[in-house]
Amino acid sequence: MKFIPYSRQSISTEDIAAVTDALGADYITQGPRIEQFEEAVANLHQVDYAVAVSNATAALHIACLALDVGPGDLVWTTPNTFVASANCARYCGAEVDFVDIDPVTRNMSPAALERKLEAAAADGRRLPKAVIPVDFAGLPCDMQRIAELARLYGFKVIEDASHALGASICGTPIAKKWADITIFSFHAVKIVTSAEGGMCVTQDKDVADRLRLLRSHGITRDPELMEGESEGAFYYEQIALGYNYRITDVQAALGRSQLRRLASRQAEREARAQRYDGLLSSLPLKLPARVDGYVSAHHLYVVELGETNVTRRALFDHLRDKAIGANVHYIPVHLQPDYARLGFARGDFPASEAYYDRALTIPLFPEMTCEQQDRVVEALAEGLK
Ligand SMILES: *Cc1c(COP(=O)(O)O)cnc(C)c1O
Repeated sequence: MKFIPYSRQSISTEDIAAVTDALGADYITQGPRIEQFEEAVANLHQVDYAVAVSNATAALHIACLALDVGPGDLVWTTPNTFVASANCARYCGAEVDFVDIDPVTRNMSPAALERKLEAAAADGRRLPKAVIPVDFAGLPCDMQRIAELARLYGFKVIEDASHALGASICGTPIAKKWADITIFSFHAVKIVTSAEGGMCVTQDKDVADRLRLLRSHGITRDPELMEGESEGAFYYEQIALGYNYRITDVQAALGRSQLRRLASRQAEREARAQRYDGLLSSLPLKLPARVDGYVSAHHLYVVELGETNVTRRALFDHLRDKAIGANVHYIPVHLQPDYARLGFARGDFPASEAYYDRALTIPLFPEMTCEQQDRVVEALAEGLK
């Protein structure tokens, strides 16, 4: 039996040609393909500015810095995410706290966010400087309500849309309206890949300028931004402490080429998700929610064990025995030992913990065949007996 991975990149002959082309060009690190990739993502999400970086973790880091997150500040995110969504705040010397999830959408609960904000305000405790909602599995968060709360309580919003390239709410692409900065990942398992890669998008020119500066050592060659007089064409100034978080032209070529197939690949993901919805409906499983008006990118398909005595561990092992690459997204971040050391413990975010105990990611990718899907469904049915 051939192993079915939970996700898999697809590299076309066009992708390979684009990368080969980039490798033969004069500039393989900082060439024109980076801007072309940025422009394509900006167009897709109808935003004015896009800044490509080496990965989404770097994007989250400079997004925090560009919004002035620093020592003494507080950043809130969801426990149901990859650790990078929380770590970025700590890179800046800020403190992290979490807002529990809505068990239906598995995204940060806007009601829990509101309650936590109200409680902090009532007790005169610190409010967050930034909140990082994560569009889990590709389903957008309730960005309208989060943006309303941001206005009311004065925090910035960094939307971690690593799973949600191409997602929209009531016809409006995410990133266009509600977040200060939205970030995407182009890691190999994500919807579009540049092997490694990430991007920050924003509607704010000043924020975009800061992101570009932070991406590349804090160095500028723009005389307008210099503090002194330019001493010639060779001259540059470091005007902030930045990093080398640049993406390469070669990676950008791959990402740009992949984006051309996004629409058809999204349709394939949607069709496979719908087919799972139908085939799995009679099993004791809770399936991914669909929200009216919300278009999910269907990065992951996660089921939760319902009324059954079978444990998640047993079901996971059963699928693996059947050569099916099940996975689990996510171990709640606050339960990681490095976060337990900061004082977090089991019981802090019960909805995320209850979700985690029963969650199982099953394979979903555009090239997945009906036969492969049937094999997954059969294995689940058998494992749940
Ligand atoms: C993949 C992922 C990241 C990190 O992306 P990299 O490009 O690997 O750094 C951050 N947040 C979420 C939710 C992710 O899934």
